[in-house]
Amino acid sequence: MPRPIRNRKIVNPPKMAGFKPFGMPLCDLEVVKLQFDEYESINLVNYQNLSQEVAAEKMDISRPTFTRVYNRALKKIAKAFVECQAIKIEGGNVEFDKQWYKCKKCFKLIDGLENHVKCENCTSFGDKELVRLVEIK
Ligand SMILES: [Zn+2]
Repeated sequence: MPRPIRNRKIVNPPKMAGFKPFGMPLCDLEVVKLQFDEYESINLVNYQNLSQEVAAEKMDISRPTFTRVYNRALKKIAKAFVECQAIKIEGGNVEFDKQWYKCKKCFKLIDGLENHVKCENCTSFGDKELVRLVEIK
């Protein structure tokens, strides 16, 4: 039996659901799926300038696992960049530090279970308009 994959901790979820290239009709684009853990690895190493060692600790995974996730992220981003593909950020074996919700109207990220009933930004209200980040497809 394969070993179960340990959840990767995500402290900084992305504010956007993905990226699309300029000057290309979206309907013609292929979509690359970047997992939340792959996004977080780029964030920690290339944006926050942490070593892979420290980044691995933050995500609660081993250093070799981190390197695999990170290399996969770079490959996907390079492919999307060169081949004019859109990037969608979703999925992965992840565990968020908080219960993150996203407003479907204004796209604001809202943290915490107690805050998920109402968006303070645009006054969206209720379960249909505020969706848990892990459930967004
Ligand atoms: Zn809102």
